[in-house]
Amino acid sequence: MSYRTANNGELRIAHVSNKVTLCGWVQKTRNLGGMTFVDLRDRYGITQLVFNMDSDEELCVKARGLGREYVIKIEGIVVSRSSVNKLIPTGEIEIEVNSLVILNASKTPPFTIEDETDGGDDLRMEYRYLDLRRRPVQDNIILRSDVAFYTRNFLKKNGFLEIETPVLIKSTPEGARDFVVPSRLNLGEFYALPQSPQTFKQLLMVSGYDKYYQIVKCFRDEDFRADRQPEFTQIDCEMAFVKTEDILHIFEHLIKEILFKTKGIKINKVPRMTYQQAIKDYGTDKPDLRFEMKVKDLNIVCKGKGFKVFDSAESILGIVVPGGVGFSRKQIDKLTDWVKRPQIGASGLIYCKFNNDSAYKSSVDKFFTLTDLEQWKQVSSANDGDMLLIIAGEEQLTINAIGNLRLEVANQLNLRDPNKFAPVWITDFPLFELDKTTGNYHAMHHPFTSPNEEDMELLNTDPELVRANAYDMALNGTEIGGGSIRIHDKDLQKKVFNILGFTDEEAQEKFGFLMKAFEYGAPPHGGIAFGLDRICAVISGSDSIRDFIAFPKNNSGRDVMLNAPSKIDNTQLDELGLNLD
Ligand code: ASP
Repeated sequence: MSYRTANNGELRIAHVSNKVTLCGWVQKTRNLGGMTFVDLRDRYGITQLVFNMDSDEELCVKARGLGREYVIKIEGIVVSRSSVNKLIPTGEIEIEVNSLVILNASKTPPFTIEDETDGGDDLRMEYRYLDLRRRPVQDNIILRSDVAFYTRNFLKKNGFLEIETPVLIKSTPEGARDFVVPSRLNLGEFYALPQSPQTFKQLLMVSGYDKYYQIVKCFRDEDFRADRQPEFTQIDCEMAFVKTEDILHIFEHLIKEILFKTKGIKINKVPRMTYQQAIKDYGTDKPDLRFEMKVKDLNIVCKGKGFKVFDSAESILGIVVPGGVGFSRKQIDKLTDWVKRPQIGASGLIYCKFNNDSAYKSSVDKFFTLTDLEQWKQVSSANDGDMLLIIAGEEQLTINAIGNLRLEVANQLNLRDPNKFAPVWITDFPLFELDKTTGNYHAMHHPFTSPNEEDMELLNTDPELVRANAYDMALNGTEIGGGSIRIHDKDLQKKVFNILGFTDEEAQEKFGFLMKAFEYGAPPHGGIAFGLDRICAVISGSDSIRDFIAFPKNNSGRDVMLNAPSKIDNTQLDELGLNLD
């Protein structure tokens, strides 16, 4: 006899009088006089079992002894239910049980296995296998499986090959620290875990596998940042004989397909915006385009009136809050505290309410006349009834702060509709970032990114002005993917390494294998990587990628269920040549 003939989500009124065998976990038992009801659960749903004292006393007593999360197998007959439960798909039937086998008992779980559980974060992480039984967590895991499936399907249809690359490798340059693995057979030497398969996918292009992808684990040892996991999954792709246009075209279709298949959302064309424009209009390179509220540059209308904060500021930026005159003093004070938090770092927040009767009210009335405020209104294209919020200070900080304030205000006004999806391509990133304190250049994407043809000359004179052939996709204010057209010429690659401060020897030591490969017929190529965990989180309207990973690490990078990382014993340390005692 098999364990089951049906699952707990599939029986309907049409199955009445069928003999069935079911297995699952006991969600709850209810004793009502002569009857005992048991909700039997598996990942497909819940089926109600009924035991009748009159027809089989022994069986009924056994059912009464079932605890939560016991694993059982029953046989019985499907019957129609007198009191229908409209909330579940199996709510029209129940099973009159005639045999019950306890497959395994269970301790009482440390939290309730229900949609709204009473378990705190830490407890649920420690007992992750129990948390994974809950419907909302299962929905996330199923969504992830679906997204991976649609991705594979789409890429297969478009001629991509899935090729695995090694996990024990040498450092890859994605800008984080490497996790390293000591080698027992090569004492004193270490492998690095890949921060991405970047160099391998480029080598595969040299090998002629012109459409590659891999759904792959990447490892980055970063300091704590919200919503980061030390290991995460990328949809990693590379193509040969392509330009930016080709990459944007194909991967725009991938994202559209995922949104359509998972959410039924149809996106027409994904808009494009240069990095410069995104920073100027939204204060970020990952703008949330579900709402407008563009950033306004107020430098010309705010300076020179004797207000020191403005006069000494490198940058004065504002946003217009639609209907914002309704904000109370308390709400504005709260927003002020919000922008002053260390994460944002603004020195304060200035407001101006444009009341309908031209009785404008600002927090700096002392310094500005009604005519000045009228100018603010014009420059910021505010309407009567709106409120202008202004941040001033050092340029980069102010841009950042206003971008974040824009999102916070939108949250408060419910403008970030979780059922709306607004992807955007961001293009023309700078190739380098200048570290003002050290004077060194860093690669904004990674060192294999090619410079824009038109800016080649600037490499010699003003590297910070060189635009890269790099692109990101942002969705609802989150970066979900990014990539670039690569350098495939050995000399240009060498030059970029030099600007990045590598001597020829260092470049040779780190990436000699790649430059060598470039001498054997490297085709023009480029690619992109999307964050699988991220995509799932964003399409579910969640802030946390952790919820979409079956066994995630906690915020300090620990697996609290396994208690990892952990010490290893002396024998192992000896074998690895790491014993310092
Ligand atoms: N390797 C890059 C990353 O992990 C993506 C790419 O350039 O394809 O961000």
